Amino acid sequence: MQAKPVGGYCRISDADLADIRRAVKAGVLTPEEAAHEERKGVLRQREDIETLAGGAPIKWYEDNNLSAFKRNVKRPDFEQMVKDLKAGRICGILAYDIDRVYRQPRDLERVIDIYETSKEPLTFKTLSGQNFDLTTSDGRFSARLFVNIANKSSEDTRRRLIRSNVAKAKKGQSHARGLVFGWLDDDPSKLNPETASIRKKAVEKYIAGDRVATIMKWLAGENVINIATGKHFTWGGTKAMVLAPRNWGIRTYNEEIIYDDANEIVMGDWEPIFPTLDTWYLLQKLKGRDAKNPGEANVSYLLTAIARCGRCGATLKGHPKWKKGERTPGYNYNCNKQRPEQCGGLSIDGPQLDALIQDLVWHQVLRASKQKQVPEGAEPWSGEVELAEVEGEITELQALWKAKKVRAASYVVALDDLNARKNELLADRAYHSVPAGTRSITQELLSHGWGNLSIERQRIIVRNVLRAALIHPANSRGGRFDPDRVEPVFHTA
Ligand SMILES: [Zn+2]
Repeated sequence: MQAKPVGGYCRISDADLADIRRAVKAGVLTPEEAAHEERKGVLRQREDIETLAGGAPIKWYEDNNLSAFKRNVKRPDFEQMVKDLKAGRICGILAYDIDRVYRQPRDLERVIDIYETSKEPLTFKTLSGQNFDLTTSDGRFSARLFVNIANKSSEDTRRRLIRSNVAKAKKGQSHARGLVFGWLDDDPSKLNPETASIRKKAVEKYIAGDRVATIMKWLAGENVINIATGKHFTWGGTKAMVLAPRNWGIRTYNEEIIYDDANEIVMGDWEPIFPTLDTWYLLQKLKGRDAKNPGEANVSYLLTAIARCGRCGATLKGHPKWKKGERTPGYNYNCNKQRPEQCGGLSIDGPQLDALIQDLVWHQVLRASKQKQVPEGAEPWSGEVELAEVEGEITELQALWKAKKVRAASYVVALDDLNARKNELLADRAYHSVPAGTRSITQELLSHGWGNLSIERQRIIVRNVLRAALIHPANSRGGRFDPDRVEPVFHTA
């Protein structure tokens, strides 16, 4: 009597699939080569499963996911295998690992039902070395635990997506169906070339160092109307527009970015303003700029926090001069006695110090630009090693987790930490690799001439050339402005 074959199920892992997809995205593999890679992975599994079968006949089932990796896509061969198992045409399942067979607990439960009700003995084996034998309660317990934990992160993602769709349904319209400045009125998935370019410019200005208020003024100056309100952009509207993940095609729910199973950002189906995520990562870094540098958020004087007290080393702050209860256009930079370590005993005339520093800095910048040695501050990024390490740790952790050597709780926490660090590093790398000019002195900046630059951009230039301007105490009180009191501190090479 011919022995009944056992089912051999092959599918490459989600992680490998994600790698291949990334390679295609990056242009390293053509779609044909990618399909070949996937097939190669499947064939390797066949050899392993043959070993597992120990000479028993095998009926092969093979799902290729590359062309259809979306969650809800059915796995035709998996379905066929379940049918065959139920009908008694095969006597069990062999697979490289359990995660290839069951993507979701309900897949597992369907198969467990068959194992529990089968009148004939069935086998279930994987090469993982774990006991997932579905004919025993221990094996079923392990299998359920594994599949449930493995499913957890994707469940969360799916729940967020479902929630977001429910929320949209409740509102009666998709968020993107409202009028969005930058996209077409009648089809918010298509860019409106005219307003999209304004939106792009606004983001670029922010990245180049302009404050939200400056961008808002620029928009008003160009008489740009926000189609969502029919009015000029408010400060809040300007900020929301600049920071919106939508600009990069990133989907959000409750301002939360959604990640897919492969830990990649879930993208929307509209045309993005920026085709790549480089500037997005950069923006994540810059978003903290105002918070980290409180002085920077609302600076109205060129050298606030750049000028330093020569007596105590504290940063100086600009203060308007008052005369007979009235504010004059003049100002001083003062060492304020705000903190104990500040001497509070130093002051210098603002406009004259600004003029001196501006001459010095502008001269440097123009000379450097003639020598084509614009100080770009573009030292090569030094985080590649750490990024590789963090990515390695993530892979290692995932392997430990798959091997059930780490508890689910620790796994989730550790993975979150590692992902947070990875995102920081990606932001940092973007910061270093963006075209110069987003954070340094460029021809574009130079061409404007000093006087036409916003104070934030002037400050960027000053900071590029000077570490600080040390202000030494005056020899006599109330004397004339003494340039010798000013000691520029340059960045050391
Ligand atoms: Zn001081």
